[in-house]
Amino acid sequence: MTSQPGTTFSPRLSEQVQRLRPSSTIAVTSRALEMQRMGIDVLSMAAGEPDFDTPAHVVAAAKAAIDAGKTRYTQVQGIPELREAIAAKLERENGLSYSPDAVTVGNGGKQSLFNAFFALLDPGDEVLIPAPYWVSYPEMVSFAGGVPVAVPTLPQDGYRLDVEALRAAITPRTRLIVLNSPGNPTGAVFPEETVRAVAELAQERGLFIVSDEMYEHIIYDREHASVARFAPDHTLIINGASKAYAMTGWRIGYAVGPLPLIRAMNAIQGQSTSNASSVSQWAATAAIADSREFIEMARGRFQQRRDRIVAGLNALGLSTPTPDGAFYVLADTTRIHADELEATRIILDEAKVAVVPGTDFLAPGRVRLSYATSLEQIERVLERLREL
Ligand code: PLP
Repeated sequence: MTSQPGTTFSPRLSEQVQRLRPSSTIAVTSRALEMQRMGIDVLSMAAGEPDFDTPAHVVAAAKAAIDAGKTRYTQVQGIPELREAIAAKLERENGLSYSPDAVTVGNGGKQSLFNAFFALLDPGDEVLIPAPYWVSYPEMVSFAGGVPVAVPTLPQDGYRLDVEALRAAITPRTRLIVLNSPGNPTGAVFPEETVRAVAELAQERGLFIVSDEMYEHIIYDREHASVARFAPDHTLIINGASKAYAMTGWRIGYAVGPLPLIRAMNAIQGQSTSNASSVSQWAATAAIADSREFIEMARGRFQQRRDRIVAGLNALGLSTPTPDGAFYVLADTTRIHADELEATRIILDEAKVAVVPGTDFLAPGRVRLSYATSLEQIERVLERLREL
């Protein structure tokens, strides 16, 4: 007789892992998928990925890499060609000068962030994170032994970061500041004066900044300002191929910053996953070397969709500030239910639209909708919400 492993004995799970909270985005996406499998026509506005195909020249580079037998282990920190392409991109697009050795390539920006927090934090070190925030930051910080400290930003200010609020949150245990512009889930883009003020604050107080610039290219009528321009010694840039080049499944992210930190991150990665997929690295090299056309196409489409969804939601009384970047809106759902978890459930069960509750982002009374989907779908979603 066979029995399911785990029925007579299960290993004790570490306290650390028991504190880890699964992402609510994944929870909603799985429930929506399950409903879809049952034949229910659910429209998902929950996903955090572009709906475009990976550009053809990137796919061709990956195929060429396979055919050329580039299928073996690579340097832990990434192939020199990719790190050179990243250094050239930083020079060309951001006016930043880094050597390819200051670049480390991970399995997605997620791994690069994970490595960074493990390399930088000791138990009890505090990390300031402007909120609403991407849910993985506080979880990763806690997992690395640190203490996440939320610094609120408000919808009525368009989620503008108040640098004085950041300063007021500093304690003797503060070690890091996380910046995420354009931001997930707010879509807020920090203007250059804010970024410069954060850089000055970090320099003045001896703090270090982890600057997640993953949505750099998805930005409307604004310029992206990297904090590394003002405080390169105090900054680790996180970026990657997922959002800019529609490459979420290829799992390529990278970090760029001071050499001792990059070496420490390489050491962590060398004892865990080693290099990111060799084929994906060749694909990302082609993507980062030149994808201007694709980026312009994607930006134009995202902007049209943003304009439509923002106007539609505001007209329904599900108010949302107009985001300047990324592909998310945070809509006020208190008209549907005061509690955003309940509102999410009602929207899924009755309107058959999957959204993500703001709870874990620290956005009470709000839900996140991703508009990385067709205009037709956005129209259908607005119609269903209107009926609801
Ligand atoms: N940073 C932010 C703000 C994100 O929203 C995401 C993905 O959703 C990531 C980083 C990680 O992306 P990836 O691991 O696909 O590179």
